[in-house]
Formats: sequence, structure tokens, C-alpha cells
Amino acid sequence: MKFDRRNGVADGSPYQTYREMTREDFRRFCAYCFRHEGELGGPGHFDQDHFEPKSVNNGAKERVFLNLYWCCKDCNSRQNKGSTWPNAGELSRGECFCDPCHHDPDGTDYAREADLSLRAMTTSGGYTIRILRLNERTELRSLLSDRDRVRREYQQTLGLLRHLIQRAEQNGTIAAGSPIGSAIEAVRRVIPAYEQFVNADPFVLTSVPEPVDADSLVDLL
Ligand SMILES: [Zn+2]
Repeated sequence: MKFDRRNGVADGSPYQTYREMTREDFRRFCAYCFRHEGELGGPGHFDQDHFEPKSVNNGAKERVFLNLYWCCKDCNSRQNKGSTWPNAGELSRGECFCDPCHHDPDGTDYAREADLSLRAMTTSGGYTIRILRLNERTELRSLLSDRDRVRREYQQTLGLLRHLIQRAEQNGTIAAGSPIGSAIEAVRRVIPAYEQFVNADPFVLTSVPEPVDADSLVDLL
């Protein structure tokens, strides 16, 4: 994911005052693991991370708005990014954090393998994966696997619903006001939400539309 930051925010206020603007700029996603607030239980599970930590350069960027990144508490914890920053030696080797406000690291700095682990494609990708332990935190992979599973389920249901409508149209069985006619109308109404959902990028579990009982429709038709 890539995040576009707003321009024109004056620096210099206590960094906590920027919290809502930071949250909006990152569309409520963690800047590093790309999990969404809704999937983690809300904004209470998130902090503003200082991309360049306060401990660097005497805190020169502590109150710089564009240095504040929306970040889940896991990624911001000491065993992950915390206040880690590459030292001069690491920087000279190109080791640094991928910056999702500059470009999307996914597909540029690292690629996703079939087992949902990440393979580094650049030095900064390798550094980011290592420091944030993106391959060791099993909850990240299980969330992606859940997203994949739910997306596939909804894709299948969408295919079935389209098929049912087509069959009902071909058979000429749709009479307005009849049970079948009402059921088909209800399906037509949910299809746009389904299409938007399965094609959404990024796909977020909290945006799942109301499920349709496709089996009872099959019985009806
Ligand atoms: Zn995170």
C-alpha cells in the first residue's frame, strides 16, 4: 500500500495533536503491516509512530507532521520497529525502512510468496522485513489467509447469484411481487456491494457485506 499525505499542515505542535489527521492520511491502516483498525479492534490499538524516531538527531522530527505514521501497537513495540533506526553503517549499505509514503513496498521492495511469507527484493525490503519481523509474526499471515478465504467465498457466491438470476430470466419465472420475483430483486440489490467488496484493493475484512442465503434461493428456483 502507498499513502498520500496531506500538504500544508504546520509543524511544531505537540505531536499528539496531529493524531486524527495522521489516522485519516493512513486511511486507518498500519503503515507497516497494512492491517486495518477494524481488523484489530479500533483506534485504541494504534499509535502515531515517529518514522524517524525521537531518539535520532535530538528529536529534530518529533513535531514534524509528515514524520508521524499511523502504526499498530504491535509494529510500534520495542521488539519490532519501536525506536529502531539504521545506523551510519547500515545506511551506507542501503539498509533502511521502506517508506510507504514514498512508494508501495509491496511488489517493489518485497514480494509475497505462495505461503504468504515475504521475499525481499531490495536491501531496504530485507531490512524492513527483518526489523519488523514481518515473516515471524504468524498473526499477519493468518489475517491475509482469512482475507483470501473470505474473498474467495464471496466470489463464489457472487458467481452463483449471477447464475441464478440468469436462469430465472431464461425460464421467464420472474413475476413482479411473486416470492421468486422479490427474491431476485433482493439479489440484484446486493450484487453491486458484492462486486465492490471482492474487487476492493486493499481488501478489508470489516467491509464484508451482509451475506445472502444463496442456498434458499437455489431451492426457490
Ligand atoms: Zn502494524
